[in-house]
Amino acid sequence: MNNSFLLKRYHDKEFRPFIHAADINKRVKEIANEINEEYENKAPLFLGILNGAFMFASDLFKHLTIECSITFVKLASYEGTSSTGKVLTPIGLEENISGRDIIIVEDIVDTGNTMHAFLKTLEGKQPNSIKICTLLQKPDALEHDIKMDYVGFDIPDKFVIGYGLDYDGLGRNIPAIYKIITTEEDLHRFEDD
Ligand code: 5GP
Repeated sequence: MNNSFLLKRYHDKEFRPFIHAADINKRVKEIANEINEEYENKAPLFLGILNGAFMFASDLFKHLTIECSITFVKLASYEGTSSTGKVLTPIGLEENISGRDIIIVEDIVDTGNTMHAFLKTLEGKQPNSIKICTLLQKPDALEHDIKMDYVGFDIPDKFVIGYGLDYDGLGRNIPAIYKIITTEEDLHRFEDD
C-alpha cells in the first residue's frame, strides 16, 4: 500500500507517523491518574519546559484533579566555572520553590544533558522533592544516571517531531508524533505496513 500521502515534509526532511494521537491521549490520562494518586494533598508545582513541552503540559494539566499549580520556564545555557560545567538558568521561574514538591514536565529526554544540568540548578533552590515527567525518552541515547519518574513512551534513538516537538521551528502543531525517514529501508518498511 502506498502511504506516502501520510508523510509530512518540513524543510529538507520527511517524517512518517509513529505514535498516534489517540495513543498519546490515552497515555497522558494514565500518567495524570498516577500523579493524582501520588500527589494528593501535596499541591505540587509543575515546571513545564518551553518550548517543546507546552502541548504535553497543557493536556496533562487538564486531567489533574488534585490541587496543583503550573509555571513554564525556558532554559538558557551558559558555561559556568570549570567546576560547575554547563549551567542552565530557568528564565521565568519567579516562584520560590523552597520546600515545594516539583514535577518537571519535559517533551523528550535524549542524552539527558539538559535534564542533568537543570536538576543541578533546581536542587540548589531547596525544593522538598523533584520528579521528572517526560512524554518521550530515548533510553539508548541517555548519558546520565537520571531516573525518569513518569514516562509516556520509550522510543528508539531517532529524531521525532509533533505534539509540541519541532524540526527547525515546524511540526509542533501535529497532534501525533512523527519519526524522521532516514534511509530507503525506513521508507520501504513503512510502505509495507
Ligand atoms: P538532551 O539534553 O536530553 O540530549 O536533549 C533534550 C532536548 O533536545 C529536548 O528538550 C529537545 O528540545 C531536543 N531533542 C532531543 N531529541 C529530540 C527529537 O527527537 N526531536 C526533537 N524535535 N527535539 C529533540
